[in-house]
Amino acid sequence: MLLSRKEIDSLMKLIGLTQDVELNCEQCLYLIAEFAERELAGKTLPAGLQAVEQHLSVCAECREEYEALQQALRELSA
Ligand SMILES: [Zn+2]
Repeated sequence: MLLSRKEIDSLMKLIGLTQDVELNCEQCLYLIAEFAERELAGKTLPAGLQAVEQHLSVCAECREEYEALQQALRELSA
């Protein structure tokens, strides 16, 4: 399921407001495309997306998802 840009923004804002937030897999997957795009573009990560990075470092399932997405984005931009 995809969220609109507005929903993604508000989710990131919400997460960014909470200190030491831990994402669950569902929230992580909502934000993962945004995270992959920004990382590929070399943009700085807002607090909400740093939580994604944190989740990826502890969750193999989401990391797999992320790597597949990153691969797809690279192919798109190549
Ligand atoms: Zn996860």
